Amino acid sequence: MSAPTVELMDYADVVTRYEPVLGMEVHVELSTATKMFCGCPTTFGAEPNTQVCPVCLGLPGSLPVVNQQAVESAIRIGLALNCSITEWGRFARKNYFYPDQPKNYQISQYDEPIATNGYLDVPLDDGSTFRVEIERAHMEEDTGKSVHVGGATGRIHGASHSLLDYNRAGVPLIEIVTKPITGAGDRAPEVARAYVTALRDLLKALNVSDVRMEHGSLRCDANVSLMPVGASEFGTRTETKNVNSLKSVEVAVRFEMRRQAAVLSTGGVVVQETRHFHEADGSTSPGRRKETAEDYRYFPEPDLEPVAPDAAWVEQLRGTIPEYPWLRRARIQDEWGVSDEVMRDLVNAGALDLIIATVDAGAPATQARSWWVAYLTEKANERGVELADLPITPAQVAEVIGLVEAKTVNNKVAKQVVDLVLAGEGDPAKIVEDKGLGMVSDEGALQAEVDKALAANPDIADKIRAGKVQAAGKIVGDVMKATRGQADAARVRELVLAACS
Ligand code: ADP
Ligand code: MG
Ligand code: ZN
Repeated sequence: MSAPTVELMDYADVVTRYEPVLGMEVHVELSTATKMFCGCPTTFGAEPNTQVCPVCLGLPGSLPVVNQQAVESAIRIGLALNCSITEWGRFARKNYFYPDQPKNYQISQYDEPIATNGYLDVPLDDGSTFRVEIERAHMEEDTGKSVHVGGATGRIHGASHSLLDYNRAGVPLIEIVTKPITGAGDRAPEVARAYVTALRDLLKALNVSDVRMEHGSLRCDANVSLMPVGASEFGTRTETKNVNSLKSVEVAVRFEMRRQAAVLSTGGVVVQETRHFHEADGSTSPGRRKETAEDYRYFPEPDLEPVAPDAAWVEQLRGTIPEYPWLRRARIQDEWGVSDEVMRDLVNAGALDLIIATVDAGAPATQARSWWVAYLTEKANERGVELADLPITPAQVAEVIGLVEAKTVNNKVAKQVVDLVLAGEGDPAKIVEDKGLGMVSDEGALQAEVDKALAANPDIADKIRAGKVQAAGKIVGDVMKATRGQADAARVRELVLAACS
């Protein structure tokens, strides 16, 4: 569905005449094993309505219980965003009717959120940072999913009937809301994208969500308003819902800036409303008029205890907050001395974390990089899986590298060992032991093989003795074959030359 023709102002004119104000609302689905208030599993993509119970279906008489793991994730998110964590806060009922929400209210947090008043220093493309202030992060539960059938667009308009899947109802959600973002000027669309990108990377590093925008586990609403340059009072905002890729965040903000500028410059008023984003042409179109907080008749949830995390627990969780991923990337790039391009390739290939983990397990960075981007990437491609999904751990790769360094195996055998790990045969050292793949390090045995090969090739032996050193290659090759590739080729060569001198 494309929106009716909309007037847009040139972007360059927009930013000379108006100052944009942004507000980002990001919903993140936590990757807890079970739902927010019941024990139902949260696995993505299950058969509709197979992960439901009386609690998440809102049946009368059922009682919710808070998921401790979700509270822990919420606190860690708050800490990572430099927020204050509440000492005591209640859940609230947000009352509204929609078929995908079987209780007719959503359990959320209203004026007593778990985390408040933080900030995130967001890295921009040019290497500078932009501080985005965080108003709050609060816990709530996801709704079910409506599927509208029989229409052309998949929207409810024109559909013949609708289906409801409650598997997602009750999945833990954290909503992270920024304070109004001012001062971004012409960089506002970039700041919006960079903020969501940074947040996604951070949530991933916190290991609290799989942050897959295409699965809806990270969803973004972008509020945009304009005020004349020099003004201090914010203009009326629109809220573009469910902008579900990083690129789209930038496109949607830019579109709304251009549209609102065209409205304002011709004496019109911006209507406070939610808007739909259209992936196909990057436009937005009107949704519903905005409800106000009063419409939701919020009141404290009587069926749940308040959340009162004790200070020692919060401090303990503070210790689990990782280095910001973009700072860590910069530090590691510096340590490894690699270019921006190489680094970007490692990130895009999904190899960076694996390489780092391999280095952490004791391998030198160069070897760790080389294994993941060469042989293991090849194996992942053969199997059509992501690197991270290969059945080999960074610790096992580090172990293989250790075996090569210790000259227990050579590079060729190391690849066989990796193949065997991938085939589920266990850990590298054990495989080498079990299959007798260790390098022939018994000098006597090696010497015997060399003598045998020389005796079998008297003409070549003569050539070597006559000083044709390159002829030694054939003998080395025979010895390697005889030892099933398990000899140190350089050492064999030394023995061959010594025997012929
Ligand atoms: P709602 O429930 O209406 O979506 P929220 O408080 O959850 O309201 O989120 C509104 C978002 O918009 C916040 O990020 C807020 O900082 C931001 N915001 C508030 N006023 C404006 C404005 N005039 N222009 C742009 N963003 C705004
Ligand atoms: Mg909102
Ligand atoms: Zn349930």
